[in-house]
Amino acid sequence: MGNLSAFLAPVTKKRSWLSAKPCLLAIFAHPDDETFRPGGTLALLAWQGVHIEVLTFTHGEAGSCGDPPLCTPDELPAVRERELQAACAALGIQSLRLLEYIDGHLQEADRKAMIAQILSVVNETQPQVLLSFGPDGLSGHPDHIAVGQWTAEAFRHAEGISALYTVAVPQSLAEALSMRQVHAVPDETIALAVDISTVWETKLTAMRAHATQMSSSPMMSAPEERQRLFFGQEYFARPAVRSAADDFLPAVLVRSDQ
Ligand SMILES: [Zn+2]
Repeated sequence: MGNLSAFLAPVTKKRSWLSAKPCLLAIFAHPDDETFRPGGTLALLAWQGVHIEVLTFTHGEAGSCGDPPLCTPDELPAVRERELQAACAALGIQSLRLLEYIDGHLQEADRKAMIAQILSVVNETQPQVLLSFGPDGLSGHPDHIAVGQWTAEAFRHAEGISALYTVAVPQSLAEALSMRQVHAVPDETIALAVDISTVWETKLTAMRAHATQMSSSPMMSAPEERQRLFFGQEYFARPAVRSAADDFLPAVLVRSDQ
């Protein structure tokens, strides 16, 4: 990792979130990754004054144009960029960085360069907490797995970051909903379970902003009761923690619960 050293020095200094605005950097592969699983939690955090930065590596051009199609495949990258902007606005996310890597091919990207890219955003935004995908990639999508691996590696290099969270679905929920397409994790690995009922409408607005993607999951046309079971509670693992005292997530989410 020799060529990463230039990015490391500025992010190694320790800082406490008590003396700085709490900031979470969420790192994903496609427009909509920020919304469908963690969107309610991001909205709750933003509402509590946490600065949310979203870094998305692709425009999602390999995704659906909708059924019936809402645009041509050529138009899809620009359409999904606008959908992402609208979803982030709905969730209260102030800052979005959308990169132009090729959807479906992130595993072929230069790993060191991708980690350096994340570290340069870390350096600029100084988050205390990172959020990304775990090794399961949630849906098993290779792009999700790649981004999760790069983020975990970036966490190891950025000594000022307190905790790394990953979006997760507990085994018991996947079984209760018979969701075989979800790569669930054992219940005991869940570090945070967040009831997002107070921002349910906000999350629905953000989900609907991703209009081209509404037909790609059977869950999107499921009855509301079933949707609430799956989308209404959000789960996170915390695979790495450097300083639990500086990890503001549990305390902020408890506050928003009251
Ligand atoms: Zn995705």
